[in-house]
Amino acid sequence: MSGLFDRWLGGPATAQAEPAPQAVGLQLWLDDQGHVLRLAGPLRTVLPANSHSAPRVHDYLQQQSWLVLEGPPADWQGQPLDLDFATVHGPALHTRGWLQRQADGWLLQVFDIGDLLGEREQHGHRLTQQKLATELGRSLRDCDEERLLLTATEQLQQLAEHWHAGSVRLMLPGDSGWYTYTCSDNDWPWAEDERLRPWLQTLPPRGREIAAGNPLLQPSCAGLPLLAVPYLHGHTVQAWLLCAGAPRPPTSETVAALLQALIEPLLTRLRQQQLRQRSRHLDELQQQLGAGWWSWPLQGPLQFDPALALRLGVPPEATAEQWLGRLHPADREAARMALEQLREGIALNLSLRLLPANSLASPRWLQWVGQLQGRQVQGFLLDISALKAQELQAGAARARLENLIASSPAVIYVQRYAEGALHSEFFSASLTPLLGWEQDSEQARQPGQTLHPDDRWLWLERTRTLLRDGQARSRYRLRDHLGRYHWILDEARLLRDDLGQPVEAVGLWLDVSEATEAAEQVRQSEERYRVLVEDSPAMICRYRPDLELLFGNHPLAEQLECAPQQLTGMNLGQWLSDSQRAAFLQRLARLTPAQPLASAEICLQLPGRRTAWWVWAERGLFDEHGQLQEVQAVGRDNTEVRHSQQQLLQGAKMATLGELATGLVHEINQPLSTMRLALVNTLKRLESGEVDAEYVTGKLQRIDAQVERVAHLVEHLRTYGRRSEVEQHVFAAWVAVHGALGLLAEGLTGKGVALHIEEPDLCPEVLGHEDQLEQVLINLLVNARDALLERRVAKPRISVSQRVEEGQLCLLVEDNGGGIDPRLLERIFEPFFTTKPAGMGTGLGLSVSHSIVEAMGGRLEAHNGNEGACLRVWLPLYNAS
Ligand code: ADP
Repeated sequence: MSGLFDRWLGGPATAQAEPAPQAVGLQLWLDDQGHVLRLAGPLRTVLPANSHSAPRVHDYLQQQSWLVLEGPPADWQGQPLDLDFATVHGPALHTRGWLQRQADGWLLQVFDIGDLLGEREQHGHRLTQQKLATELGRSLRDCDEERLLLTATEQLQQLAEHWHAGSVRLMLPGDSGWYTYTCSDNDWPWAEDERLRPWLQTLPPRGREIAAGNPLLQPSCAGLPLLAVPYLHGHTVQAWLLCAGAPRPPTSETVAALLQALIEPLLTRLRQQQLRQRSRHLDELQQQLGAGWWSWPLQGPLQFDPALALRLGVPPEATAEQWLGRLHPADREAARMALEQLREGIALNLSLRLLPANSLASPRWLQWVGQLQGRQVQGFLLDISALKAQELQAGAARARLENLIASSPAVIYVQRYAEGALHSEFFSASLTPLLGWEQDSEQARQPGQTLHPDDRWLWLERTRTLLRDGQARSRYRLRDHLGRYHWILDEARLLRDDLGQPVEAVGLWLDVSEATEAAEQVRQSEERYRVLVEDSPAMICRYRPDLELLFGNHPLAEQLECAPQQLTGMNLGQWLSDSQRAAFLQRLARLTPAQPLASAEICLQLPGRRTAWWVWAERGLFDEHGQLQEVQAVGRDNTEVRHSQQQLLQGAKMATLGELATGLVHEINQPLSTMRLALVNTLKRLESGEVDAEYVTGKLQRIDAQVERVAHLVEHLRTYGRRSEVEQHVFAAWVAVHGALGLLAEGLTGKGVALHIEEPDLCPEVLGHEDQLEQVLINLLVNARDALLERRVAKPRISVSQRVEEGQLCLLVEDNGGGIDPRLLERIFEPFFTTKPAGMGTGLGLSVSHSIVEAMGGRLEAHNGNEGACLRVWLPLYNAS
């Protein structure tokens, strides 16, 4: 059969020469028009029955074969004919045959060549697949690194086309499980990697076709089959290829072959990529760290990582001597010994310096590590300059700190906690300068034993508080090596571990002896001042601006007739008259932070109706807003002095009265003479019997008027002779002029002195004592009179007038007595200075007058005018506000 078949395949034979064909294949007898006359041969059974009455051969063929049989059968002969017959099974019957001339027509003899074509097709298929596999591998191996993913995608698309699949997906293992490396069609509706991943985990490691309608394909593709093929290396799955939507899924074997062609170069490239990336990272890391490898086969030159060598300025291959020459001389010997020891298998680990480029640059530090591995030393070099610099800095800082602690008056200590007690473990070096103890001495181990006996409980309390609260602050005395006690301020803190258990106490001792002693001195000093204040003969007190006492000492309490402790809360104002209190408060109101001081003489009405005069000096204390908070005052009782002054004044007054005596005799004599004359005349009338009522009435009225005049004079003398009132009051100054003239006028005119009194329109008021101002005016008038009489002036005259100038009132007393000797002008206000003969003058008149005017806030001035002396009394005008 095969011989026959081969021969037919070889080409057409001459039909006429051959014997009749055997009953194999299919024979069709045809007429000249190609109508089938008869069918024979075993293959006849697969042909479908034909309904035509005279079917043509074309009616048995598939359409593509009609082209072969063009024209009448005579045109078909002489060539092999490949014809595809329709069959009852469906698939075409592939045949090859030829046409032979028969006597009455034509015989078309064909044989089934389906097997042959199938083999050919498979062969072609294999070739295509091999080509595809080669193409896949080549393109993945040859593409640029950055096009790897793109190329892989293109190759997957090729595979998808090859299998007529909807989408092919390649999954690789990643850090967090399987992930889609690439996919032939990104728009194809696959499930997410998150859903594919656990599903792949459940698959056995062999090719598998998954039933159609898999939920991992979106509903739109459900109904299409899904194929999952693993790529195995040993027993490990290294990749999964998922193929979905192929109408006829390729077999797992076919897929496996192509998958291998795709995956192997891809994984290799990916691994290379990863390696290159790692190596790049390593290089970068080494660059950043300043690190690199070195090796030495124990003979010949040392090898250095080229990048590192460049950075260090060392040749990549250097002999041992060259290498040692690059090192700092101080490190060369150690390096040489380390190289020797490496030969003996002793590992190397050295910090060394490179020779600096110039003597000013600081050397670079390297960590040089190496170990013998087999017959070669391998190791690395690390630039540790930055670390060394930090170490140096830290060392310097530590040294500075230690120095500071050692030279400071503070001691730092550590006490270790064990079984509920604290044990000294460390003291800073400053312990010796502070207490004279050595750091490891018995005192340092047991500081509690050097405590001052009175302070032991303080130490125990400090430890208890420290353990309970985690910190303690205490102050106690410790004995130094010479037996002296030091006041120590102890600040300690307890450190605990993670579980809250005490580990150790860290604390600080500060010698505060000086501060403590200073505080003690301050306390003693305060005590002394307190005693000073208490025992001071002066009155000392503090009070609020509303005069409420905050404190008062013994002398003040004595004056106010109470106990010192009763003073607090009392109000000073209760002993002041309304006007005194008003003046007092006014004075306080004038105090400012810039002018906090004031002084005055105050008058008080003390218990038992005693009038007291105190000289009072105050200092105001202010808050930060300048508000007066408190007043401190020191007072001295001036009552005695006041009394003496008053007595002096009174004495002077009496003296003036004495001086007035002659004038007064005249003042009184005159009305007496008048009264006597009137009485004598009246008596004479009575004796003569010529009693005339009118005459007597007239005489009696004259006598009454004279009595009135004397009574007035005596009354005035009485009030003038009385002591002055304690407090000043307001009065019109001119009234005092009238008072003085009332006593003197008669006497003056009697002596021929003319009085010129210029009565003013207004009589402004002043503050003081009226009798005292009167006394001043009397003195001035008497002095003027005496000067006029002494000098026997032809027309003696005294003028009295008043003026108001610049808010001050001036009373003027002028005479024409020739004035005061200019050489004496300076001295006339001195006490006891007089030019009058003995028994006449006291020399007190002007001196006392001066004091009176000054007490009223004014001044007394003496001038010489054209004709005589002019004395002026200046007084401040009283202002009710
Ligand atoms: P006395 O009147 O007791 O002498 P005074 O103190 O009043 O004391 O006066 C002192 C002196 O001033 C007088 O002795 C006199 O020399 C001089 N003196 C006072 N007033 C006048 C005056 N108006 N003219 C001349 N001298 C005067």
